Amino acid sequence: MNIHEYQAKALFEKYGVPVPKGAPAKSAAEFDAALAALPDGAVMVKSQIHAGGRGKGTFTNGFKGGVKFCATKAEAKEKAGAMLGQTLVTVQTGPAGRKVQTVYFTAASDIKKEYYLAILLDRASSRPVIVASTEGGVEIEKVAHATPEKITKVVVDPAVGLADFQVRDLIFKLGFTGPEAKNAAKLIRNLYACYWETDAAMVEVNPLITTPAGEVLALDGKVSFDDNALFRHPEIVALRDLNEEDPKEIEASKHGLNYIALDGNIACLVNGAGLAMSTMDIIKHFGGTPANFLDVGGGATREQVVAAFKIILGDKNVKGILVNIFGGIMDCNVIAQGIVDAVKEVGLKLPLVVRLEGNNVVAGKATLAASGLKVVAGDTMADAAQKIVKLVA
Ligand code: GDP
Ligand code: MG
Repeated sequence: MNIHEYQAKALFEKYGVPVPKGAPAKSAAEFDAALAALPDGAVMVKSQIHAGGRGKGTFTNGFKGGVKFCATKAEAKEKAGAMLGQTLVTVQTGPAGRKVQTVYFTAASDIKKEYYLAILLDRASSRPVIVASTEGGVEIEKVAHATPEKITKVVVDPAVGLADFQVRDLIFKLGFTGPEAKNAAKLIRNLYACYWETDAAMVEVNPLITTPAGEVLALDGKVSFDDNALFRHPEIVALRDLNEEDPKEIEASKHGLNYIALDGNIACLVNGAGLAMSTMDIIKHFGGTPANFLDVGGGATREQVVAAFKIILGDKNVKGILVNIFGGIMDCNVIAQGIVDAVKEVGLKLPLVVRLEGNNVVAGKATLAASGLKVVAGDTMADAAQKIVKLVA
């Protein structure tokens, strides 16, 4: 789960990670109150969307920049009005962009230097890793590619936690001295506590800045959480912004289905993540493109199958459906009944290929046959994939 910058910064503050003073607004009526919470002087107006690269982004109406420096509060109000409700396209949003439904006003900081700082789970070592660089503000991927020596990585032993010598190592490599070094060390320790205690998958600060006054501040903040740990953090679940998520994925998560929308036209309904991956692969192999990843799980109920099938049918890009079930724990007849129930409710005009194998397969096939549904049977995965690719062509 992802959160907005303004929410990430509120979390940072709770953990003692200094951020510029700021206030969000969800409508023009809230601008004055939000701005009144800030000190007089220059203000940054920042579009809140779940994507980075906002500063260099462009709105679909031509307005340039999703992050704007404003010399006065009056100018900030005007810029915020131009952003709110508009669609912002950045390198991370894809061409469709994202509608800005919240703007965030922050007191503008004087930047001495920009750094990069992130903490994430390193899958290779199965440990948290702190990634830092003196080259902040710009795209870190470019720095990693062109000048990898400018990126420092510190792997943390989760049982021991972040050790003082590791913090000193980071401070030294980033070149902090004097009061900056002390402030940065405290910030790094507190950011690690934030990462660890919230079960975050990643916290990223880009840029982390120093000011002429010797402060060290998180000027931007991106936090994503491990979905499997959200049950331990109701206060974080409350930060979820459904506007930023695909409605089909929201519906799927309500029913405990693992669903990810993709851009192809062949919908897949599969049990098991591995089988779902190989089903997408085999569709591709025979020249088709999958419209989704959908794993109904090992012990799906009839209701879950109905929900899954309805989500698939609600996707306008879908031109055909491939059901690929290997019944181990899963009862093939439950899948068959779910499909029949769903079609009774919402109808079916698209080609449907079903490959059922395993637990209670005879009953499953009988249910489909008795329903009068027009089902094309696939004997093997390859056979089923070839048939659906041909039917949507
Ligand atoms: P992003 O483009 O989505 O990563 O948004 P950021 O919050 O990182 O802002 C983009 C850039 O705007 C930063 O890298 C800074 O260079 C600049 N910026 C953001 N806030 C301030 C500020 O308070 N003062 C100044 N001078 N520049 C800022
Ligand atoms: Mg940034």
